[in-house]
Amino acid sequence: MAEERKTLEQRHQMTELERIRHSAAHVLATAILKIWPEAQFAAGPPVENGFYYDVDLPHRISPEDFEKIEAEMKKEIKANNVFERVEVTRDQALEDARKGRLAGLSERSEPSKFKLDIVQGIPEGEPISYYRNGDFIDLCAGPHVMRTGNIGAFKLTSVASAYYKGDERNPQLQRIYGTAFKNKTEMEAYFTMLEEAKKRDHRKLGREMELFCFDDDVGPGLPLWLPRGTVLIEELEKLAKETEFAAGYQRVRTPHLARENMYKTSGHLPYYADSMFPPMKLVEQAEKDQELQLWVEKMELKQKLDGALAIEDPEYGAVRDRFKVVERALEAIGDRYYLKAMNCPHHHKLYAAVPHSYRDLPLRLAEYGTCYRYEQSGELFGLMRVRSMQMNDSHIYCTEDQFEQEFRAVNDMYLKYFKIFGIDKYLMRFSTHDPSKLGQKFVDQPELWLKTEDMVRGVLQRSGINYVEVPNEAAFYGPKIDVQVWSAIGREFTIATNQVDFAVPSRFGLVYKTRENTEATPLCIHRAPLGTHERFIGFLIEHYAGNFPLWLAPEQVRVLPIGDEAPLVEYAQGIVTELRAQGVRADLDASSDKINGKILRAEERKIHTMLVIGKRDLEAGAVSLRVHGKGNLGAKPRAEVIADILSAIRERRA
Ligand SMILES: [Zn+2]
Ligand SMILES: [Zn+2]
Repeated sequence: MAEERKTLEQRHQMTELERIRHSAAHVLATAILKIWPEAQFAAGPPVENGFYYDVDLPHRISPEDFEKIEAEMKKEIKANNVFERVEVTRDQALEDARKGRLAGLSERSEPSKFKLDIVQGIPEGEPISYYRNGDFIDLCAGPHVMRTGNIGAFKLTSVASAYYKGDERNPQLQRIYGTAFKNKTEMEAYFTMLEEAKKRDHRKLGREMELFCFDDDVGPGLPLWLPRGTVLIEELEKLAKETEFAAGYQRVRTPHLARENMYKTSGHLPYYADSMFPPMKLVEQAEKDQELQLWVEKMELKQKLDGALAIEDPEYGAVRDRFKVVERALEAIGDRYYLKAMNCPHHHKLYAAVPHSYRDLPLRLAEYGTCYRYEQSGELFGLMRVRSMQMNDSHIYCTEDQFEQEFRAVNDMYLKYFKIFGIDKYLMRFSTHDPSKLGQKFVDQPELWLKTEDMVRGVLQRSGINYVEVPNEAAFYGPKIDVQVWSAIGREFTIATNQVDFAVPSRFGLVYKTRENTEATPLCIHRAPLGTHERFIGFLIEHYAGNFPLWLAPEQVRVLPIGDEAPLVEYAQGIVTELRAQGVRADLDASSDKINGKILRAEERKIHTMLVIGKRDLEAGAVSLRVHGKGNLGAKPRAEVIADILSAIRERRA
């Protein structure tokens, strides 16, 4: 797929950090040319967490070359050259490209071939500009930092190969990645965070802690949840069900698949077909004979078309037409079912199943619905990108008058969850439509767009929620909010999406009777604060480094008697039984191992609370409390410790 050219508007929106990083790409090219003057450059944009520059060079650059290149980059930064912008005519740019002057330190015998191609691709009327730092001149629309010295800290990170313009018919280039920051401190913090993220990698911890697995026979991207992971799922569902119940939601259940026609009504087909699993075709017994006859006829016709009949033969046209008719008839036989990629259409059907009046609204239908999406196998990544996912889904059907209150309640629910999970930093990205793309990218209902966007913006502003507005990224049918959160080590995750839908309910013919006894279409809010189990648990594993709070921990309490004397083990077993009767996930380590071995094993397993039982504890009716990561907290009365465990779980204490 070809890479898209940035619009001028997108360039203006580049952040300071992006400018630093993009400027560092120019400095990288400068340095490479000092070492290899024949280097040819293609594109050098900022990317997430850094920048790259694509270079064509006979020498294969490897990480061993980085030190040498970085040394040259340092010289260029130390020189503190100004990034000077020069606007030129198209003819001038073409001439300089032919002389090898673009992305070069001087004129060269070879033309700047990629830059020449890029100049030729710049739309007529768009300004053409160069940026110069020292001797290096590059074709670039900017923006940059003022001087090379503004690049506070940088590092080359990796090298990969990439096709020019991302098209495999084009030559293969070397893509050199690096990152840059305002200063050394920020860069060091970034690399420390990466190191920490590696230790907390959800795939690694998921395996070590026996939370989930994948199996080739089940299929890529289809996670299997082991008992300990299933505990996490069920605790999250319990939290969601309690919270939603208190907020007036009603639970529903829907099947995992539906007929093709529903997805045509919803608009998923044909637009979303690539992201869905291919259909299953069901043919009723009564149709099977007819299907077989059509198959036989199709084969006969195909034989004729494939050679038995010459194209010049007058019969050929008629055979070809019949072939098409038979193919269509075969298509029409039977029923096609799709695995659901979203829960919304099923919920719309539930809304439609019962007549509604304004008195029934808002109607909040909730389901932890399982969805299936066909992600390319190259895109699959642990729990973060999967093909089956269980979503904390709900659809709220309401009148326009109710919208603000409902939307605000959804936001409050987010904030409540953030508090429970100790998420201190979050951002809501509010995506709006682009009026110039009505009827193409966005449903053509200009007044409804403005109205709903105003409503959403109003709620966000009035409730003091941390948000940014992003134009041109709304869903097809309404404005959208993506919720980004930062884990404890400062890594960013997109965990959830809210959408306001003013278009699809009418496609499904959803109505309610108004106070005046007329019919009106409700608005629909799609919301999933806990996202999908897969992504949210992936996030939580990193966020907690696997050290889940007591209420969420797969094994909450382990009781460890010192030695295996009968009265001691009986006392320990009594504590386990008492805790289990209260729903606490408690286990007994009755092995004959030394106590240090038992503690070590429990600590390695990240068991939240360990109750060590010695003779003195038994005599005093006490337990010696030990908490993972906090060490030994001393002996306490048994009843007090159990009461505290129960209240910590009930309150979902951090
Ligand atoms: Zn530039
Ligand atoms: Zn939905």
